[in-house]
Amino acid sequence: GLGLAVSALAASLVACGSDDSGSGSGSGGAKKVALLLPESKTTRYEALDRPLFTEALKAACGDCQLIYSNADQDAAKQQQQAEAALTQGANVLVLDPVDGKAAAAVAASAKGQNVPVIAYDRFIENANYYVSFENEAVGKLQAQTLVDALKAAGKTSGNIAMINGSPTDPNAADFKKGAHSVLDSSGFKIAAEFDTPDWSPDKAQGWMEGQLSAIKNGLVGVYAANDGTAGGAIAALKGGGVKPLPPVTGQDSELAAIQRIIAGDQAMTIYKAVKPQAEAAAKGAVALANGGKPESTTDKNGVPSTILDPVAVTKDNIKDTVVKDNIYKITDICTAS
Ligand code: BGC
Repeated sequence: GLGLAVSALAASLVACGSDDSGSGSGSGGAKKVALLLPESKTTRYEALDRPLFTEALKAACGDCQLIYSNADQDAAKQQQQAEAALTQGANVLVLDPVDGKAAAAVAASAKGQNVPVIAYDRFIENANYYVSFENEAVGKLQAQTLVDALKAAGKTSGNIAMINGSPTDPNAADFKKGAHSVLDSSGFKIAAEFDTPDWSPDKAQGWMEGQLSAIKNGLVGVYAANDGTAGGAIAALKGGGVKPLPPVTGQDSELAAIQRIIAGDQAMTIYKAVKPQAEAAAKGAVALANGGKPESTTDKNGVPSTILDPVAVTKDNIKDTVVKDNIYKITDICTAS
């Protein structure tokens, strides 16, 4: 009994398998917008960011052409993809960088060719516009939800393992900083901590497996920075016979994570509404491609920015978040993955 009302369903907004490159007629005046995403093991990029950006671009500019690539977590490959987009005549780059520092050089070279750059989700120095979420708040929400779950279970001490994101992703540093700001003074002990190369779920799993013999006994919780690393951690805990499973955090509201939350294997995830993010980026891209300025509400390190709010998701509010926003139908959640 999943206890969620099927009546809340509406058609999913996710256009699966969309490979639309825009409706541009190929006429000389059509603007070209390049979207460069970082990886595909985290499901958001192909399932949400890509189709929602495609849709938003079409709405903002009927004849813009989309140039799309995914770097599969390879910074050198992403650099080649950015160069290829520039060669193809991209008028603006919407770049979600594998490596924030390397991307600053890519951005400088694009700007040298008068091609503006939007930092999409992950910050890039000197970009023309940045669209993201309050990333330190993500880490705080994850850690606070974990601490609350532990206290609700009557625990005030014990070991926590921390699995952070990729050291080349500036967001990972923000998540980690936010999480530490809560955990360091929580009464729990951070017994082991890992920065997961490439955000790789397999590497998170391998690390957790290697830690188990040392910390398994007093282990009360696992901070995992996103749902991919959470999945790896949970597989390691189950494989190592840890029972009951300690609460594990996550981020992204991936379908598998929502299912693990309902099954009781994961304590929480974070919902970041990708639709407004993709829309802000698409509108900003069209403005920049036409020589205008994106609408921004704040700035980060001198870059005009739009910063959205993350929401913590537990069993109690799945219905009011990802189901309400039509990210998933109840039937998606309740059938096999
Ligand atoms: C994003 C997360 C994602 C992670 C791994 C971060 O920069 O903000 O949503 O889980 O990268 O791709």
